[in-house]
Amino acid sequence: MEHHEAAKTLVELLEGNGRFVAGEPRYKRDITAAREAAPGQTPSAVVFTCIDSRVTAESVFDRDFGQLLVVRTAGHVPDRAAVGSLEFSAAELGVSLVVVLGHERCGAIDAALNAVADDTHDPRTGYLVEQLWQPASQALSETPEGEDPASHALRLQVRRTVADLSRRESLEGVLVVGAVYDLDTGRVTLVDED
Ligand SMILES: [Zn+2]
Repeated sequence: MEHHEAAKTLVELLEGNGRFVAGEPRYKRDITAAREAAPGQTPSAVVFTCIDSRVTAESVFDRDFGQLLVVRTAGHVPDRAAVGSLEFSAAELGVSLVVVLGHERCGAIDAALNAVADDTHDPRTGYLVEQLWQPASQALSETPEGEDPASHALRLQVRRTVADLSRRESLEGVLVVGAVYDLDTGRVTLVDED
């Protein structure tokens, strides 16, 4: 399947991120923009990201009302309702691009790393930690002594989410890419697959 349209959309998102980083956003997302978008939406992409309060997809990619769909779960864990939302985006709204957007200093990833390191099981966070156990334990075993495994764990989780979505027949024809958001610079960087 040709990803021409999706690739073009990805370039536009990264250009929007460039404007955001430069402090020159095109969109104010005020009440006027909300009213203009009210009659109907034409989103071209869906961002699947973490629930973190510091990650705001519409700002990060400088998109206006009606331009971007956003699905959020802690640690962008692709469980059923999240995947169903992505499937709906593709099937009903014609979206051809999914950006899996992780971020540095992710609390969900940290919780999983701590749980794996201490082998603790808190029932309140048990479901999420279970979903993130694999990348957390892999990062802990692959990170040299004395180094922080969080960044590695995050990238593993982004790649894992991309791989999970990419192999689904229900998302056939949709381009799925991974990226990481830097909280300090505001910059979004694509994550290579492998
Ligand atoms: Zn997070």
